[in-house]
Amino acid sequence: MNISGSDFQTDVEKKIEENYQKLNRFLERQTEIADSFKKAKINGKLSHAYLIKANKNIDALSAARFLAMLFYCSADTPCFTCSECRKILGNFHSNLKIVEPDGTTIKKEQIQGIQEEFIKASLVEGARFFAINKAEKMSSAAANSLLKFLEEPTGKQTYGILITENIDLILPTILSRCQLLTLKKMNAESIHNDLKALGFDEEKAYFISRFSQDINDAEAFMNDPIKLSILEKIPAFVKFLSERNNESFDFYREIENIIFIDRECFRLFVDLLTFFYIDIYKIRNGYEKLFFLHEKAFIEKFSQKISKAKIINKIDYLIEISANIDYNINSQLSFDQLYMKLRG
Ligand SMILES: [Zn+2]
Repeated sequence: MNISGSDFQTDVEKKIEENYQKLNRFLERQTEIADSFKKAKINGKLSHAYLIKANKNIDALSAARFLAMLFYCSADTPCFTCSECRKILGNFHSNLKIVEPDGTTIKKEQIQGIQEEFIKASLVEGARFFAINKAEKMSSAAANSLLKFLEEPTGKQTYGILITENIDLILPTILSRCQLLTLKKMNAESIHNDLKALGFDEEKAYFISRFSQDINDAEAFMNDPIKLSILEKIPAFVKFLSERNNESFDFYREIENIIFIDRECFRLFVDLLTFFYIDIYKIRNGYEKLFFLHEKAFIEKFSQKISKAKIINKIDYLIEISANIDYNINSQLSFDQLYMKLRG
């Protein structure tokens, strides 16, 4: 392994550049959060703990970096180029600690580590920041440790940003100590237009724009052959479910091969299927704005054969499966159950 100075420097430069791009994207789309930090800082109204309800397509850590820059960059609006900004972007600012899951969980020692670092850095003046990414992965010992820390921070000027995609998994005691911030979603219409401008197929672009948080997310979807193939198989799968005489399991195997590639594939399959049933429900209620606009004829026909109660029942079931995917060890079993349940 070569850890010579120049390689190290290149890695740091790469990190700075990467985080700079992320921060830029964040500021373009989440102006409200950036503005609220600025205003709260000026008025001395910053909260000591924020919880950001994030999604996997927006780098919410950028919010923590921006907040730290408001204190450390000497420009009114962070300049991104001074040594303080660069330290923050390169993840080596001594007063900004970022914690991410170590493996599958965030351990107690990691939370204690923040406190220790801050105590060590107490000779250095200034505010201290910490960010906990995927905060829902905290072990209960880690969460308790954080709770103590939130109650007795190492200094008055300590600010924490917790980031989670699943707010339901955050301890209520922690939740009650945080100010909640929600990221703004990009409007589906503008994603659709962006995708069309990029030359993507109009109908698919329409669907994906409704299913994506922003243009990056949508573009990644359009360029991912596995995701596209899952999307294409959804109507066929619903047809397959309704053809009771069809005992051919080739198609079943085909679906399995693709959705068991990893957990995200399975999640996508379940979520898309949910949208498909929502469309069936919409048509049933005379509502024309579908996600799967390109499958309208089939959806219309299918919706006549199934009762509203049954549709709702299936949607509820799919939502439950999707919410529990992270805890389902046996995907095969849950897919088999899903098949049986949707068929019935
Ligand atoms: Zn600066």
